Amino acid sequence: MHKYLKKYFSLNKALICIAILNAEPSLQGETSSKVETMIKEIDWAGISFKMIQSGESDHRLIWLHGDEKTAKMALEDYVKHYSGIAFFIQSSDREIPFIDTIVDPNRIFSTEGSSKALQKFKSNWNQTQLNEAISLLEKGRKTFLNEIFPTNGGLLIALHNNSRGYNIHSETQNSTSVSIKKDQNPRDFIICTEEVDFLKLEHGPYNVVLQNKNLGYDDGSLSWASLENGVRYINIEVRLGWLSKQKKMLNYIHYTLIHANN
Ligand SMILES: [Zn+2]
Repeated sequence: MHKYLKKYFSLNKALICIAILNAEPSLQGETSSKVETMIKEIDWAGISFKMIQSGESDHRLIWLHGDEKTAKMALEDYVKHYSGIAFFIQSSDREIPFIDTIVDPNRIFSTEGSSKALQKFKSNWNQTQLNEAISLLEKGRKTFLNEIFPTNGGLLIALHNNSRGYNIHSETQNSTSVSIKKDQNPRDFIICTEEVDFLKLEHGPYNVVLQNKNLGYDDGSLSWASLENGVRYINIEVRLGWLSKQKKMLNYIHYTLIHANN
């Protein structure tokens, strides 16, 4: 090859390398972008979720509260770069319309929780109507859980944000083990339901609690439904607006619990 041509090609090679480096995702590691495919929309008693498949992994991720936009952005970023099946609630509000009231979608994963959640925003139910509403949620719950629960020991990762006083200390009494880090904000923390996961995460940089036993407290949230069904559940709870923190924590979970086992 002519020496000028050689130079031209090696320069091009260098430019390609730079392009690849620039394409590296904010969640560092795997450089290739994933192809995202919208599989379907799932409806649970009028509560709608968009289901996105990215790559081949069976790990599942869910965004449940429509007003927690930081969590949504962190999940959108994740599926661009990593494999998994993601569920996005189709709402921009925390509570969603249900019959003639509204309900918190993360309080209806058990019968007891549903009953409380339904009465929170409407106190004048007559008993028959309330029972009908509870059984309407019951009917769709199993199908919905079958969609979002991973098979073969995969992870279910829920992403949440807080904007008020909720923090790791609010969860300690419901937890069997707790690891609080001095340099971490108490409002940024991880909940897990498997002891093997906790034993890895407690050595990491982030606050973490283990909730592997139902200590008589069931608020109808997805963590307790996961525990009851033997699903490895992770909740990444971060202050609203702290996107880079939530991405870092998700990245950490990916490398500690998913990538390390592949
Ligand atoms: Zn939430």
